[in-house]
Amino acid sequence: MYKKLFIPGPVEVKKDVLEKMATPMIGHRSKEASELQRSISNKLRKMFYTKEEILLSTTSGSGLMEGAIRSCTAKRAAVFSIGAFGDRWYDMAKHNNVQADLYKAEWGKAININELDRALSTGRYDLVCVTHNETSTGVMNPVDEISQTVKKYPEVVWCLDTVSSMGGTKIEVDKLGVDICLTSSQKAIGLPPGIAACSFSEKAIERAKKVPFRGYYLDLLSLYEYIQKKDYQYPSTPSLSHMFAMDYQLDKILEEGLENRYNRHLDMANYVREWAKKHFELFAEEKYLSNTLTNIKNTRNISVADLNKELGKRGFQISNGYGSLKEKTFRIAHMAECTLDDIKELLDNINDILNL
Ligand SMILES: *Cc1c(COP(=O)(O)O)cnc(C)c1O
Repeated sequence: MYKKLFIPGPVEVKKDVLEKMATPMIGHRSKEASELQRSISNKLRKMFYTKEEILLSTTSGSGLMEGAIRSCTAKRAAVFSIGAFGDRWYDMAKHNNVQADLYKAEWGKAININELDRALSTGRYDLVCVTHNETSTGVMNPVDEISQTVKKYPEVVWCLDTVSSMGGTKIEVDKLGVDICLTSSQKAIGLPPGIAACSFSEKAIERAKKVPFRGYYLDLLSLYEYIQKKDYQYPSTPSLSHMFAMDYQLDKILEEGLENRYNRHLDMANYVREWAKKHFELFAEEKYLSNTLTNIKNTRNISVADLNKELGKRGFQISNGYGSLKEKTFRIAHMAECTLDDIKELLDNINDILNL
């Protein structure tokens, strides 16, 4: 049965966007393919607020995370984790034989800026990984403060995971000084899963040139160089179907207006937060709440699994807590094309099921 998804990816994709996935194929070495890629890059630059090159990857977001940490760490990476997706960077480093250290914050909290400053000031690191919006905890890290700290260390390449926030909240890549800002299609951008995008700064390019073993498929430098040489084409066959849908969806996003889109996300977030505070509690630190999803403490000891089963009968789906937070919290995503009316409808149904 069809369910409206209020989970933090994949999100509901509009029918007209889905239909673009069925566009007849073109040759990936054709002029049209170059045009398609150029058009996507130009639109993504607006959404990322960047002048840098945009790279696409026929992987989910994790592919670019792995590509980034492997391609651009010459010395040692500092991974600042505030939850499960932050930890993932560190696992990727280990599996790729990239030297790295993991700095963990307590779940529900934002990054510790002093710890970040202290770590980078040691001079041990030439790359830092930060999660912008930690989907496992519902925390949105304070990127402005992080930016001020990272900017003190010009040798450090900054990788920022905006998988669950790009397109739902403003992230000014160049102004912040992010070198590799990466995101995925199936969250706040509102596309099917299977394609990822990142910005790639001059500093990141120069760094990658100093890294001898960057892998092959996910070598960001080779993607970059191929695009320059071959007029916006890729070394291997990209998912053209996703690219058709992405080009179209980005038009819709820009038509809505980026600021309008961010405000819509904030309105939904505020509504869910108020509801959560009335009936439950918020999991994340109040100052650092995510604008694209809300993680709610299960203070009433409800069965989240049963609630989701009942919601399912009515055509809705939310998310249980992530990992060890299962049944201890539940998460409501409010991102991509979701509207305040959709959120109200969902919460009315939850109220009804739980007799709130
Ligand atoms: C979903 C998510 C990922 C993983 O992205 P995939 O596209 O599933 O590979 C990474 N980081 C964050 C913050 C996420 O929400």
